[in-house]
Amino acid sequence: MSGGAASTGMPPRHVSMYLRWSLWALLIALVAALLVTLVWLAGRYEASQVQTKLERDTADALGDIRSALTRNVQSLQALQSGNPTRAAWNDRASQLLREHREWIRLEWRDAALGTLTSMDTPYRASPFARLGRANAHADVALACANARRFSGPAYSSSYFLPQSDGLGVEVMELCLPQVTAGQTTGYVVATYALGEILAGLVGPQLMRSQEISFTEADGTRLALHGTARRGSRVFTSQQLLDLPGNTMVLRMDSWRGAPDLFPNVLTALVTAMSIALVVVLVLLAKDMRRRLRAEQDLADALAFRKAMEDSLVTGLRARDLQGRITYVNPAFCAMVGFSPEELLGNTMPAPYWPPELAGEYRKRQEIRLAGQQAPPREGYESVFMRKDGSRFPVLIIEAPLINHHGVQTGWMSAFLDISEQRRVEEISRASQERMQATARLATVGEMASLLSHELNQPLAAISSYATGTINLLKARPALQAAAGPGDAEVAQASALADIEGAMRRIAEQAERAGKVIKSVHDFVRRRDKEREPVEPQELLDAIMPLVSLQARKLGVRVETRLRRGLPAVLCDRTMVEQVLLNLARNAMQAMDQAHVADPCLVIEVRRTGAAAQAGAGKGWLEFSVADQGPGIPEPIQRKLFTPFFTTKDEGMGLGLSMCRTVVEQHGGFLGFESNRPQGTIFRFTLPVDPASPERPA
Ligand code: ADP
Repeated sequence: MSGGAASTGMPPRHVSMYLRWSLWALLIALVAALLVTLVWLAGRYEASQVQTKLERDTADALGDIRSALTRNVQSLQALQSGNPTRAAWNDRASQLLREHREWIRLEWRDAALGTLTSMDTPYRASPFARLGRANAHADVALACANARRFSGPAYSSSYFLPQSDGLGVEVMELCLPQVTAGQTTGYVVATYALGEILAGLVGPQLMRSQEISFTEADGTRLALHGTARRGSRVFTSQQLLDLPGNTMVLRMDSWRGAPDLFPNVLTALVTAMSIALVVVLVLLAKDMRRRLRAEQDLADALAFRKAMEDSLVTGLRARDLQGRITYVNPAFCAMVGFSPEELLGNTMPAPYWPPELAGEYRKRQEIRLAGQQAPPREGYESVFMRKDGSRFPVLIIEAPLINHHGVQTGWMSAFLDISEQRRVEEISRASQERMQATARLATVGEMASLLSHELNQPLAAISSYATGTINLLKARPALQAAAGPGDAEVAQASALADIEGAMRRIAEQAERAGKVIKSVHDFVRRRDKEREPVEPQELLDAIMPLVSLQARKLGVRVETRLRRGLPAVLCDRTMVEQVLLNLARNAMQAMDQAHVADPCLVIEVRRTGAAAQAGAGKGWLEFSVADQGPGIPEPIQRKLFTPFFTTKDEGMGLGLSMCRTVVEQHGGFLGFESNRPQGTIFRFTLPVDPASPERPA
């Protein structure tokens, strides 16, 4: 088919259509030809039947005429027997004429053809009255000459005898010689009316539906008898009637009636069969059309399915119950870089399994094929290997393949290449981290001024102790000179004690300054990202130095309320400290802005109802930071967590958005509400470490 299409330049579908229609046309033409031939043959057969019957009838009629003529000759011979007198002859003759309508005249003639006596038929009024008998003499003489020659009956050729009523009859003479002792002594001449021969001598059954006539060899009609009926078709049969001295043609015509659709059983049968055949053909054509349409619909549906599969970006793969790959779509092939031929029929391990993971995948697949475990509806992630060896993450969604009998025949899987998604996630995570670092740095920047203020004290103390020590050291020789030798000992000892005390103070102050710097340094530097169990107290302790720094500067009292025996929370310590610090800082700044009298910052940790946080192993701890600031007006509330939203001149607007991200990353919830009588309470939750021992409060 495709080769033919290539050579004709037509699309294969058109070629098959063309071929199909030409086959149909050929079939219809053949059937039509067959039917026409059959009907024609049936008609011809029927006609030949009629013709044969007609031939038979004609032969019968001819036989009838011949035997009647022979009988008539015998009757005429009987007329002459026993040398009758003329009167007796006349009697007999008139008797015969009554019996034989075909004779119109009987004559007894002598050897010289002189008429001795004659009788006319009683059925006609003197037939020879118009022309006279003498007019026919030549015919009679010829017939009798023949009769003499044959020594038997002889006939003249026929001639037309006009009648006195204006009509006429075709007649023929029969001459029968009368021989006595070898001498012709006379003749009996009988005049036959040809029409009456046909009417009287032929069996009536033969003429019921046909016309019988005598004609000459050239077809000139001499006499006719029968029903002059005309139909669509005339059948004709002719046979020679050769009499001694005369030869005529007996002709029979028969008509077939008005054209009949079903002239006989055969034709009817053939016609019925033809109609049945045509009906079957039509039904077949209709069925064919329906099939063609169904085929077309099916082809369209297939083409649609193919187009759909080809345009999908999701990889599709079907496997049978033995784990053989039975189908892959182009997207899947593009994803793994193998051609369908390389994949189809493959069992475990599939060529796109990374060798290091093949064992694990095989186990997973065996479980799946054993039907022990349904695949998760939301799909699962896996790693595949391209043909070039590179790995990529995929999301696989599997479902059983059920056929139309409701029986599972395999598994259908959809694949999504999630490399790009992973990359985006990575980018967003990195930017999140950068943002958090920035926020932290911003905090530090803010703290730098506080730090300098805080460092001032120890540094001033160090400097004054150092000055005191130097003074002591400078004053030593003078002391020694002024005191006596015994006193000198005592004075030296007390000076050394003073110097030592001052040096210790210096060391203390330096350590204090170092601690301040370290607290900031720790805060900025510590980057371990692990989730670890952390006691709530530890968290508060870590931020307290920094909180106190600011609290001291702004004159805020800090109160922590921590129940005893609280479990540890599972968290990223650094990040949570940052959250607490941010909230505390915001609270203190708010109170400072509102010039609250006796501002107090309350940081509280308590257990919260586990029911409110379904899914957690052992419940949640709630951290709250409360202030008595101005509260947060409605329009600001809505934008509070938007990055870079701030109402402060030196603010970055990153604090709260970072806090919410961190808390949500831990699975917790960050929110706020109004404090009574005024201010705001920020609350967030963190999951309790499941391994942490439950301690009674
Ligand atoms: P920043 O502190 O840099 O402005 P934040 O995201 O931490 O950024 O805070 C956003 C805004 O939320 C602040 O500018 C302030 O207007 C408001 N806000 C935060 N905490 C409080 C609070 N405790 N009381 C009143 N307003 C607050």
